[in-house]
Amino acid sequence: MSDCLFCGIVDGKIKANIVHQSERIVAFKDITPKAPVHILIIPRKHVAKVLDIEADDAALIGEIFQVAGRLAREHGIADSGFRVVVNSGADAGQTVFHLHYHLLGGRQMGWPPG
Ligand code: 5GP
Ligand code: ZN
Repeated sequence: MSDCLFCGIVDGKIKANIVHQSERIVAFKDITPKAPVHILIIPRKHVAKVLDIEADDAALIGEIFQVAGRLAREHGIADSGFRVVVNSGADAGQTVFHLHYHLLGGRQMGWPPG
């Protein structure tokens, strides 16, 4: 999508600190990190939100969680613990409408989330 920020990162038109790239997935550091480790994992293809995930995307979503685990190990938060968070819609605080999984770690997290 031409006016989508994260499609711009996928296409290389917008700079990002990319930590992982594969055929279907890109992961990069969040520009305003909310934890010592804060990485966004996104599908290359434009999917706006959780509600738009289709049956054919099952393998893609599984791969995203596999990448989350790998990045958690690489960034030293596998043993201490981490979160994988998806905000969907206004009440959850979604601000960018290209599906993204927040990988957060490196500090104690509160529960329930605010
Ligand atoms: P949401 O609030 O939609 O769940 O998360 C959007 C995330 O994207 C936020 O954590 C925000 O800091 C991050 N973000 C917004 N604009 C940019 C950008 O241009 N580059 C990067 N790397 N992250 C961004
Ligand atoms: Zn997009």
